[in-house]
Amino acid sequence: MKAEILSVGTELLLGTILDTNANYIAQQLPPLGIDLYYISAIGDNRQRLADAFRRGLERSDLVIVTGGLGPTEDDLTREAISDVFGEPLEVRPELEAQLREFFARRRGRPMPERNVKQATTIRSGTYLPNPIGTAPGWWVERDGGARTIVAMPGVPHEMRKMWEEQVVPRLARKVGAGAIVSRTLKLIGIGESHAEEALGELVRSTNPTLATYAKSDGIHLRITAKAETAEAATRLIDAFEPAVQERVEPWFYGYEADSLPAVVGGLLRRHGLSLAVAESATGGRLADLITEAAGASDYFLGGSVVYSREAKARLGVPSGVLDAHGTIALETTRALASAARAYFRADAAIATTGVAGPGAAGEIPEGTLYVAVDVEGALHEQATRYSTTRTEFKRRGALDGLYLLWRELRSR
Ligand code: ATP
Repeated sequence: MKAEILSVGTELLLGTILDTNANYIAQQLPPLGIDLYYISAIGDNRQRLADAFRRGLERSDLVIVTGGLGPTEDDLTREAISDVFGEPLEVRPELEAQLREFFARRRGRPMPERNVKQATTIRSGTYLPNPIGTAPGWWVERDGGARTIVAMPGVPHEMRKMWEEQVVPRLARKVGAGAIVSRTLKLIGIGESHAEEALGELVRSTNPTLATYAKSDGIHLRITAKAETAEAATRLIDAFEPAVQERVEPWFYGYEADSLPAVVGGLLRRHGLSLAVAESATGGRLADLITEAAGASDYFLGGSVVYSREAKARLGVPSGVLDAHGTIALETTRALASAARAYFRADAAIATTGVAGPGAAGEIPEGTLYVAVDVEGALHEQATRYSTTRTEFKRRGALDGLYLLWRELRSR
């Protein structure tokens, strides 16, 4: 099946927003066995939209549209589809009732009358409910199902929910895959290209498929299998996963539902260890990340943001260390971790120093990050250089801090 994606919205053409919807959908199609041929962005213009739909229906079996399903004048996806199919827009009473209900329940006010537009479809179209927003999607078939247009809202989280819950099952039936099951493995401490290298020929497997994604909490590996039934697809994944695990074992920290802070928290609990932090480079991000895990108070005692030399000294970094190495150095970071451990009377501590930039700090280049952990007196450290924004630098610094601790705890 040949597909194309149309992203609707003048904002995309003005460069105000990035087309993350197309990016997401593009990643979703290969496991379904659907080939993507084109991605286009079109402004909020009825004529150009209709032209794009016509062209899409000529050259593709499946046209996936996001955006332009809102209630305002410049939301024209519905109108353009109705132009192309030559069918008028009709209000669907049950959809109108659902929308009025949504406004009453979720927004606590009556539905503005212009939203009635969102309760319309053409007669041959089916609507896809949107339980978390006001723009229902559309599923329209032509030529006895040989050509399909799927329209979804532009708001990314509404689109994703609709895609996963309603569009994927319909497409799976259409392409003849009885069931599609995915499993995600999460890695930390390894980059995406290194992960792909480690996986070798496994990334070329066709069923299950294996794909790598760089995410905010490390690298995700998604194994996806197609089979007659969900049970059979799960069996294919079960048989495939050990080969994957064998290659990425040093970096594997959990599955879909496992967050790194919770996994590290679980290890601290298991070993009966308490934790403290002293942060310079990460400016509080590390404490923020640690406390993402529910029940972190079981093991997390506290932390200090020690930005100045004086603050580092006050926490307990010996002035000899500061004099000899300066405020940003591997030695200083080690001393900071030990100082935090002593100050908070914790079993383990993590410390960060570095240069978030922009620009260098004297001799030390921008992006330099030092992380150290002290677990019951045993010190471990890591020096890295990131070429990225300040915000991203801090985020990665926090993740590296947790990674270093995770690595030490899992080998205990
Ligand atoms: P709604 O009525 O729920 O607002 P809609 O279908 O009318 O949805 P748009 O008005 O086109 O969607 O877009 C709503 C918002 O969704 C945009 O302001 C933008 O932030 C986001 N958005 C739209 N299209 C995309 C896209 N392709 N990629 C990422 N974000 C998008």
